[in-house]
Amino acid sequence: MTWTADQPIVSIKKVHKSFGTLEVLKGVSLDVMKGEVICIIGPSGSGKSTLIRCINGLNDIQGGSITVEGQEVHTPDLDKLALRRKVGMVFQQYNLFPHKTALENVMMAPVKVLRQNKADVEARARALMKKVRLEGKEDSYPGELSGGQQQRVAIARSLAMNPDVMLFDEVTAALDPETVKEVLVTIKDLAAEGMTCILVTHEMGFAREVADHIYFTDRGVIVEHGPPATFFDEASDPRTQEFLGQIL
Ligand code: ADP
Ligand code: MG
Repeated sequence: MTWTADQPIVSIKKVHKSFGTLEVLKGVSLDVMKGEVICIIGPSGSGKSTLIRCINGLNDIQGGSITVEGQEVHTPDLDKLALRRKVGMVFQQYNLFPHKTALENVMMAPVKVLRQNKADVEARARALMKKVRLEGKEDSYPGELSGGQQQRVAIARSLAMNPDVMLFDEVTAALDPETVKEVLVTIKDLAAEGMTCILVTHEMGFAREVADHIYFTDRGVIVEHGPPATFFDEASDPRTQEFLGQIL
């Protein structure tokens, strides 16, 4: 069956995930349409990172299914490279190569993994540096950049693979408050261009403004979800209310 854009680009159905005897995801279902921005929020330890890592195959699952553009992720005949190209991921720790410049960091995967032409990749990498608003920092080393700037290089590095979906796992959680905004602006730019984004975030202002849909997880289940207006103003589950009460 070929995937078409009127079907979910990411479809998560009744996913169960355990680490040993600890069941971390207890039947999670969630669909994302192309171009949507989805925010996943919830208390620490509720399984948000685990879920997002299942989407790009970094975690295996014990039940249910996940498809990306109609392709089953958790299957022995998965084309890992194809999935890696389709789904970009940015973490809290940006882990840039310290001895490579910002531009070299962005160029690395397309040159080394995809063996694309270096001149073409460089031209694209320069455009991506501009897109993340880091024009002029191409030759800087990570150590010369602020946390927010490094995180934007990490986003550009991920975009260099030309993904269809971007996963962001608390990408601003480790940043100084003054650089959080510039990273959120970058993600907002991407969303405005129609990039499908799945974010784990505690930035409620951002979620309210940018998300199409918000999911609240607690202890491995989605307890509540809805568009921001409904979610923030009419949350009915006591766990959601308690969480929002602490954070807002
Ligand atoms: P969140 O991102 O919502 O804070 P996580 O998905 O990181 O939550 O973790 C959910 C639960 O799974 C936690 O109890 C955590 O300790 C456990 N967990 C996560 N990764 C592993 C792992 N690799 N091995 C064992 N337990 C893990
Ligand atoms: Mg996490």
